Amino acid sequence: MDKITDIILGEMQNDLFARKNLVRINMEKAYKNTDFKKADIAYREALLSNMTSKNEESQKKLDNAQKKRAACAKKAGIDLESLEVKYNCSLCKDKGIKKDGSLCKCVLQKIKNYKIKENKKQGFDFTFEMNKIASMKVKQSAALSKIYKHMEGFCKRFPETDFLNYLIVGGVGVGKSCLLSAVANEMLKKGRSVNFTTAFSMNKAFLDYHLSSGIRSLSPFTEPELLIIDDLGSEQIFKNVTVEYLFCILDDRIRNKKHTIVSSNLNFSMLEERYTQRITSRLSAKENSCLLNIDGDDLRTK
Ligand SMILES: [Zn+2]
Repeated sequence: MDKITDIILGEMQNDLFARKNLVRINMEKAYKNTDFKKADIAYREALLSNMTSKNEESQKKLDNAQKKRAACAKKAGIDLESLEVKYNCSLCKDKGIKKDGSLCKCVLQKIKNYKIKENKKQGFDFTFEMNKIASMKVKQSAALSKIYKHMEGFCKRFPETDFLNYLIVGGVGVGKSCLLSAVANEMLKKGRSVNFTTAFSMNKAFLDYHLSSGIRSLSPFTEPELLIIDDLGSEQIFKNVTVEYLFCILDDRIRNKKHTIVSSNLNFSMLEERYTQRITSRLSAKENSCLLNIDGDDLRTK
């Protein structure tokens, strides 16, 4: 089980415990009224015997006990609703796990929401709905609109997409990061696993891993169905680390048919010079890769 699932199940457990505890406290208070206590115990007994041997008589007894209990509660000013644990999910009764041991859909939804929230926290909050590039008077309006449409299609068809890898190049501020953020959010909404990272923080993770001082595994980069690396070329090149690990990650992902999107301010030949042809060929192989070039104005000054 991953960390996020752990956190969510833990939160659900705490929340359920708190609600059950509150009901217990309310019950103790209510039982101070002896009439209600008697009526409640009688009602619960009637409920049980009606469950074990259901017949006309047991049902009648239960109905009477219920009426009596309600009357006692009313008289004593007790809110019967406050004596029942209310579940948010009727499927798993807020345990988060179904009888067969798998995660309930309420947990899966929570995981999705959590990831979208985390993405927002990191500033990756752009969505396809927010895209207004077509109506902006900038050089790249038409081209970028087309790319947005294409990437929206990519998300819709995922994982049956036209290409496995995308290399998106273009100058500073042309709109690459917003496009990637929209892709990441759309994929998270679909419940896909995505790691949206910058080349800078990925490179730092590589170095930590190499020096055994931080992360113990490169799985954050190999496991997600989609890895998005923003701004390749902005990071420092560490000898025996940056290029070597990047190659391993890309190679591993391609072998496992996992999707990767890379953006860069550098053009293709600059990337080749910096990362060697081994890497650029992985990202531009005709049979599974698509190179998108966004040439235009800096949107941040518009
Ligand atoms: Zn549930």
